[in-house]
Amino acid sequence: MGGLLELTVAQAAAKIAAGEVSAEEYFAAWMQAAAGDELNAYLWSVENHDDYQVVDGPLSGIPVAVKDIFCTEGSPTTAGSKILAGYRPPYTATAVEKLDAAGARVLGKTNMDEFAMGSSNENSAYGPVLNPWDRGRVPGGSSGGSAAAVAAGLAPCAIGTDTGGSIRQPASLCGIVGLKPTYGSISRYGMIAFASSLDQCGPLTRDVTDAALMLSALQGRDPCDSTSVGIEGGIVAPSREDLKGLRFGVPAELARDSFESGVRENFEATLGRIEELGGEIAEVALPSAEHGISAYYVLAPAEASSNLARYDGVRYGLRSGGDGDLIEMYEATRAEGFGTEVKRRIMLGTYALSSGYYEAYYGQAQKVRTRIAEDFAAAFAGVDFVVTPTSPSVAFGLGEKTADPLAMYLNDYCTVPIPLAGLPAISIPNGLAGGLPTGFQIAGPAFSENRILDTAHALEQAIGFDGSKARA
Ligand code: GLN
Repeated sequence: MGGLLELTVAQAAAKIAAGEVSAEEYFAAWMQAAAGDELNAYLWSVENHDDYQVVDGPLSGIPVAVKDIFCTEGSPTTAGSKILAGYRPPYTATAVEKLDAAGARVLGKTNMDEFAMGSSNENSAYGPVLNPWDRGRVPGGSSGGSAAAVAAGLAPCAIGTDTGGSIRQPASLCGIVGLKPTYGSISRYGMIAFASSLDQCGPLTRDVTDAALMLSALQGRDPCDSTSVGIEGGIVAPSREDLKGLRFGVPAELARDSFESGVRENFEATLGRIEELGGEIAEVALPSAEHGISAYYVLAPAEASSNLARYDGVRYGLRSGGDGDLIEMYEATRAEGFGTEVKRRIMLGTYALSSGYYEAYYGQAQKVRTRIAEDFAAAFAGVDFVVTPTSPSVAFGLGEKTADPLAMYLNDYCTVPIPLAGLPAISIPNGLAGGLPTGFQIAGPAFSENRILDTAHALEQAIGFDGSKARA
């Protein structure tokens, strides 16, 4: 069975389509793997597949680990929060339905930082996820369970969400591929909202080909999400092997000192590989990007404070405070149901939106956001892609940054500007540093997913990363 689990999604799907492997047998093998989760990657996983029905499609028979932020009809959906304990949604997120329609099946729901707020998965109400490369370290966040599951061989592929880096950063820390598509590529319907103007669904996979395969099934316009438009022309399988004629911009502002030495060295090595493959490296200016963190940590909490107002003990999950007064019940439910980081963000966001402060904080952050988008637009007039390390460090120790929210926020230094500008970016494994994975991020103009995937595919071959150690 081990051999079966070593196949990529594309390889397994081909074998299933050719009748060489049975879909039922493949799903059962993964169910068994998921049941052996020792990393706390899953909050819930499928226990029997008696009613398993094979649907013909490009993902026929493929099990998918789904971040617990996606509503799945009749099965637990907590968003990593105590306030949603016991909630079973009456409907399924469009992203999950699209995977189903392509033949895939939910294997389980993965652990995450509460309401996707975090970079280490330590903000989950259900305990942290452990990094399969070193169980004393974090897997990154907020899609930490999805990333750890794929890296550890507890799922062949997963979906997550990225608001400020939550797909790319855990992918980087776990040594897998994570793609955050252009805002609007994939429907957000049924995806529990954190910061609606930034949130995007995306795949976490072992390789770039699998990321393309999943994106192809996930993308598309959905009448239930008016911000979704899909990717015109769809997604094609990446095949590129060289980078001739392509220009890669390295931001001049990227203070290279703020990166760990191993991360920096691996980044430089891949810049060298780009040149060997015929690509050109150029410096680009993104003068406003360094304000990305400040703008993001005003805008995302502001949107969250509004989105999270719906958890009042009346409609979903937890209710505390007995039969007393209604306001008391709301307060008791929210005091008990939300964790520390979520409360911090609700307070920050409510403050930033309050009359008298709105212009100074929210209004100002929106202007910075526009500037960042303009910086990228100007950069893409001269280069095809902007590249950076994904995360400034390798996976850090559990508990190492929990006492210092600002240190935690700085993880997002390279990932946050991209969703602020609505752009797509991928993180691919870029070798180890001290035995732990590092990531290489490639960002492109809106809806350049096919070109990003093609380029990432060429680089992936050149880097030749071996993730099998984490699956051992
Ligand atoms: N780490 C960032 C945060 O805490 C990003 C989270 C995300 O992308 N959902 O908000």
